[in-house]
Order: sequence, then structure tokens, then C-alpha cells
Amino acid sequence: MKRALVTGVTGQDGAYLSELLLKQGYEVYGMLRRSSSADVVDARLRWLGIEKQIKFVDGNLTDLSGLIRTLKEVKPDEVYNLAAQSFVKSSWQQPLLTGTVTGLGAANILEAVRLECPTARFYQASSSEMYGLIQEPVQSEKTPFYPRSPYAAAKLYAHWMTVNYRESFGLHASSGILFNHESPLRGIEFVTRKVTDGVARIKLGLEKELRLGNIDAKRDWGHSKDYVRAMWLMLQQEVPDDYVIATGRTTTVRDMCRIAFEYVGLNPDDHIVICPDLFRPAEVDVLLGDATKAKEKFGWVAEISLESMIQEMVDVDLQRVRRNMQ
Ligand code: NDP
Ligand code: GDP
Repeated sequence: MKRALVTGVTGQDGAYLSELLLKQGYEVYGMLRRSSSADVVDARLRWLGIEKQIKFVDGNLTDLSGLIRTLKEVKPDEVYNLAAQSFVKSSWQQPLLTGTVTGLGAANILEAVRLECPTARFYQASSSEMYGLIQEPVQSEKTPFYPRSPYAAAKLYAHWMTVNYRESFGLHASSGILFNHESPLRGIEFVTRKVTDGVARIKLGLEKELRLGNIDAKRDWGHSKDYVRAMWLMLQQEVPDDYVIATGRTTTVRDMCRIAFEYVGLNPDDHIVICPDLFRPAEVDVLLGDATKAKEKFGWVAEISLESMIQEMVDVDLQRVRRNMQ
């Protein structure tokens, strides 16, 4: 039985990845940072019904000695580093925390892997945000990076540390440059979930308006379930490498809103209010990924369309809002 350690196990991707690994017969260890409320911690895992199948270990990416101890105890075959301060907007309010967790945290776990289990395969959750002010209309593994937020700068450091640990120490370390991916388990602060939750509230008569920032921004949105499959496939390759994971289709926030509102028979123009305070100090205007390398190397393609994903999210948010109304 293979053993995997997942950091960020309580997050969106951590939950779906754990579900996938359990289905593949892995023994899954999930790293939890301490919280005063256990209830909040495993909400996503409970939603998938897998919380009892995961073995939890305490840990924080900022605590190198704890990570070393954890890796010594668990001795994983595969390590998936998904933990991060992952919200771009918060990274301007908390640049040092973001750098410490999202950037140095990755260096900590790479170092712990090098010291305690150097033959383990390592996955780093890199991000299309690293492309930032884009240098090429379609972004591939060869496109130069130009980070536009403290989050993106921290992710870029973590990405290059992954490449360096591979090249310097021979670690089987791969970096997945994943474009935005969403699901009903996405954090409510991200624009897709904010929209699907807002649509549910408006549809059920709880609210009238949905306040948004820059709805002209374009993103290449996929489904987390598809994207965690790519993470796993990367670690099954004999040779570690870096891969872009994307759908190859870009959509404005405005058009994504239209999909959500029209699904429940509403007109977005009647409800969306643009708020200047929701704009960012610097914007990533457009992202569009080319995942040809992943397709050629291990046959990965996105299977779930933006429309069906947004509809699934609206359906789940309608259920959630209805339940809270009772
Ligand atoms: P989430 O924000 O949903 O999850 C982040 C996870 O990191 C949570 O489990 C959180 O724990 C944990 N965490 C935060 N700080 C620490 C810390 N100091 N020590 C240990 N754990 C910590 O992110 P996603 O699941 O959406 O994304 C997974 C990874 O992929 C992240 O690194 C993200 O930056 C990256 N990524 C995501 C993309 C996307 O579109 N979703 C695109 C590209 C990259 P807690 O529950 O306690 O808060
Ligand atoms: P990001 O690409 O990782 O920053 O993911 P987000 O979902 O947070 O944001 C995607 C895009 O939506 C960005 O260009 C934001 O500026 C834009 N956007 C517009 N209004 C909002 C909003 O109210 N909340 C968020 N989170 N993003 C918004």
C-alpha cells in the first residue's frame, strides 16, 4: 500500500486529492494545523465523507522541526504540498505571512523531504498567478513569469526552490502550474464561489445585490476534481518535471456570472453592483493556459466544462442556503 502525505488537506484540493488517493488504495496522511474549532477544520472532508479514512498529523508549514518529525514518522512515498495562504487579495494585506507560509513554507517541506525521505516523490502546488503581467497570449511551461502580487511572488520562489531541489539534490520533485480551478468546495472569498453563493441568496430572496470588482478580468477556469488527477499523474511519471494544467479556454468574470445567473432564470445586469474597493492594487488581466505537455506526457485533459461546474456550484449553494434558512 502506497502512503501519501498531503499538506493543505482541509482545503479544496486537499479534500479532492485525498478522495482520489483513497480510491487508488493509498494510505493518506493529512497534515492539520491546529485550530480551536475541529468543526471548521474537517468541513470539506466531511462533505466528501472521507474524514474517517484519513490519518491526521499535526503540523504547520512554518515549523521545520515539526515537518522533519512528521516525515520521519510517516515515511511517505509521495508528498503533496498544497498548503498555502492561497488568496491573492489577502496577500497585499498580509505580504509577510504569505511569503512565510506560501514561499518559505515550501522550502521548509522540501528541506524536510531531503533530510528524512529523499526518495519520496514531491508535488508543489504552483500557480498561473506566477505569469502575472503576461508575456505571451497563451501561457506554457516556457512562458516567462512576471508575478503581480505578494502571493504570486511567494509561489514563484516556491516553484524555483522545487526546481532547484530537483536539480541540486536529485529529488523527484515536480511543480504543477495550475490555472484557476474551482468546485462546490472552493473558498467563499474566490470569485466563482462568491458568485454562485450570491446567485443562490438572490434566487431565494435573501439578497438583491452582488457586489464585485473587476469583472473584465479573464480566467482559464477548470474543476478541482480534474486538476487533482493531474497532480497524481505527475508523480506517477518516472522523471520529475513541471507541467501547466489548464483548460485552454478563457472567460471573463462577467460571462462566468452570466452562466450562473441565467441558470436560475435571473439577469445578472439586474443584480451586479461594481465596487471600486473590490479592485486590486495590481491585476492579472487575462490567463489562458496551454496544457499540451501534460496531454502528451500522461494523457491529461480537462473533462468538466465551465458551464457544468458553475451549475453544480449553484445547485450546491442553493441547497446550502436553503438548509441554513430552516
Ligand atoms: P485552500 O485555500 O482551499 O487550502 C489551503 C490549505 O492550506 C488549507 O488546508 C489550509 O489549512 C492550509 N494552510 C494554510 N496555512 C497553513 C500553514 N501555515 N501550515 C499548514 N497548512 C496551512 O487552497 P486550494 O485547495 O484551492 O489550493 C491548493 C493549493 O494550490 C494552494 O497552495 C494554492 O495556492 C494552489 N493553487 C490553487 C489554485 C486554485 O485555483 N485553487 C490555482 C493554483 C494554485 P486551514 O484549513 O487550516 O486554513
Ligand atoms: P485569483 O485569480 O486567484 O485571484 O482568483 P479570484 O477568484 O480571487 O479572482 C479571479 C478574478 O476575479 C480576479 O481578476 C479578480 O480581480 C476578479 N474579481 C472581480 N470581483 C471579485 C470579487 O468580488 N472577489 C474576488 N475574489 N475576485 C473578484
